[in-house]
Amino acid sequence: MLSLFVRVNTSFCRYRSASAAALSLLLLSAAAVAQTPAPPPGPRFPRAKTSVRLIGCATATRTSSLKIDRRDPTRIDGFGRLVDLPLKSAVQEAVRADCAELRSQFGIRAPLFFVDEETSPNAVAIDYPLDKRFPDGTVLFGKKLFEREYSKGRFGIPTTIAHEFAHIMQYKRKFPAMTTKWQELHADFLAGWFTAHRARFWPDNSDPNVSARTVYESGDYQFNNPQHHGTREERFAAFRAGYKLNREDVADASFVYTKGLEYIQSRGARIERANRLGSTGDPDIPFYRNRAAKQ
Ligand SMILES: [Zn+2]
Repeated sequence: MLSLFVRVNTSFCRYRSASAAALSLLLLSAAAVAQTPAPPPGPRFPRAKTSVRLIGCATATRTSSLKIDRRDPTRIDGFGRLVDLPLKSAVQEAVRADCAELRSQFGIRAPLFFVDEETSPNAVAIDYPLDKRFPDGTVLFGKKLFEREYSKGRFGIPTTIAHEFAHIMQYKRKFPAMTTKWQELHADFLAGWFTAHRARFWPDNSDPNVSARTVYESGDYQFNNPQHHGTREERFAAFRAGYKLNREDVADASFVYTKGLEYIQSRGARIERANRLGSTGDPDIPFYRNRAAKQ
């Protein structure tokens, strides 16, 4: 899902933190998040520790997978514990509305949960459905990241949520195996489109410049790091290209998804070859088509 402030090898997945403003979660109807010992309503937990794959951003966690433990399902090894944030009702409603709109526009079914990160501020998308009503995956948004972004103008938050939901869309559509950077730029492209879409219908509650700044500041310059997400300039350019597409009245997110692929390919992205095991051999290069076969 954003950052640079923290460490260079981060992704969209980071935000600047606010005070200790309390936040609350509950993005969906009841889906919500788990109160400490109690698991979230309706979640489907694995029988034992299960490894779940990160889609896109793996930055702060420095790994391509996390683990969920049935004995303590509110805790995600490698990231943190699910929490219920006492958000102001208007903020809570905005997050809920953004998630609902993203599900509708991107054609995906995924919930968003808040996590009290043990890592640096981060947000991730995973291929595991924590809530069975939403089978396409789950977005985990860090409390520290949320607070930080809220404190600097808050409109980086919907854009970051859009970036993470874009990763779920990539997963559902079997995004071709590529290095992390291209997958991140493709998600930025979709987040840019959604930011413009949101501003059309919610102009009084949007500031695309704040959103763009968040994306820009998420760039990094660790070219040799497999988790390199693109430079500030590259991330901003991808965001702007998606934004522009919406301003040209392109309203179909499926079409935008395809245009995003064309965009990154025009800048050098290429599909990686998978080995005979159906994996690219690089844990940072997902090959989603084989997930079902592996289980
Ligand atoms: Zn990402």
